[in-house]
Amino acid sequence: MKEANLLVRRIKDGTVIDHINKGKGLYVLNALDIDGKDGNVITIALNVKSKKFDKKDIIKVENKFLKEDDTNMLAVIVPEATVNIIKNFNLVEKRHLTLPDQIIRIFACGNPNCITNSNENIETVMNVIDKKILQCKYCRRVLDINKLLYA
Ligand SMILES: [Zn+2]
Repeated sequence: MKEANLLVRRIKDGTVIDHINKGKGLYVLNALDIDGKDGNVITIALNVKSKKFDKKDIIKVENKFLKEDDTNMLAVIVPEATVNIIKNFNLVEKRHLTLPDQIIRIFACGNPNCITNSNENIETVMNVIDKKILQCKYCRRVLDINKLLYA
């Protein structure tokens, strides 16, 4: 119990991404471009026991309030995750993820001839057709949600 308390230790200010499907925590960090270079404390807990799931991952980013646009793109990879905004130890906002119309930058297009895979430095833009299907805005290649490549 003590150990569990340590893991879910409250933060003063920041964002807690909870109920991440186990094993997806590192994808979430990658998708949100969180690498700790800004000096903020980031806590990552993988395979935490959960009531809702068998196990889950949790990420806490201190002193940073993630915006809805940023977190909604996670709906494709971790649809059940919740985003909690904490201010002065209080939960001020609890968000469920909603699927956005487009996802920018996160996923690579599977078409090697696509302009986003050229040297032109164009960010990928995936149109979200439904929660199982993404389509490249540029070449219209349809991506299988289970075989996504990260840009
Ligand atoms: Zn493409």
